[in-house]
Amino acid sequence: MLNGKTAVVTGGGSGIGKATALKLAADGANIVVVHMDPEEKAAAVIEEIEALGVKAKAIRMDVSDFSAVEGMIGDIVAEFGSIDILINCAGITKDGLIARMKEDQFDAVISVNLKGTFNMIRHCTPVFMKQKHGTIVNVSSVSGLIGNPGQANYSTSKAGVVGLTKSTAKELVSRGVRCNAVAPGFIATDMTANLSKNNKLVDMIPMKRMGTADEVADLIFFLASDASSYITGEIIKVDGGVAI
Ligand code: NAD
Repeated sequence: MLNGKTAVVTGGGSGIGKATALKLAADGANIVVVHMDPEEKAAAVIEEIEALGVKAKAIRMDVSDFSAVEGMIGDIVAEFGSIDILINCAGITKDGLIARMKEDQFDAVISVNLKGTFNMIRHCTPVFMKQKHGTIVNVSSVSGLIGNPGQANYSTSKAGVVGLTKSTAKELVSRGVRCNAVAPGFIATDMTANLSKNNKLVDMIPMKRMGTADEVADLIFFLASDASSYITGEIIKVDGGVAI
């Protein structure tokens, strides 16, 4: 059980992050949701989490802002007493072919998906080192493992998350900190709303369907909990077989 532990879930206001926040809360963890969603949407998520009997708070903040993340982590520790679990799920897409991709389209995706993940790990690390424990789960993508036409910015950011996960795991293992990543395939969320009606895409998936946010959250929960206590530096696909 995660009773009394605090989990910070970036991107916890929607899709995979929301499903993960609810699973961690159902097991007893207090939850901080970091998001860029409309305030009312996040407030509804917090209500759902609190109904499970734990403490919850939403913070609307851009994870790509290094110093804002630093301040936020300090505030969370002051209010919740610790951070035990960090889930880096905040992410965006700005798809386009390389020949037409604008500089800001590339930079924005790298800033949120890769630098944002680094910023969170960077500022949680002193907290984890002091406590001598901590668990990090990053959300990469099969796009970062095998590439995807139209996603040079996104797949680069998600491949970066793979390297970041492995370096973090090696660097912090002696401090009692584990760091792993999940690599989802096509998952039905707001991010993929316009893909879900694409029959050709679904046909490419060996399981012949998109995954659900819950199916990814189950894996994130496993990697965040003591059930995976001997696993670190691992990247696990949850993709219906699409990247076999
Ligand atoms: P989603 O759009 O439903 O949720 C994204 C969340 O990230 C939202 O809560 C949003 O507010 C938050 N966010 C966006 N930019 C932010 C920022 N700058 N700072 C803080 N929060 C920010 O998408 P999702 O499908 O649930 O995606 C979650 C993660 O899973 C992302 O990292 C995404 O790249 C990854 N992923 C998704 C799929 C898929 O098929 N849906 C596949 C592979 C990987």
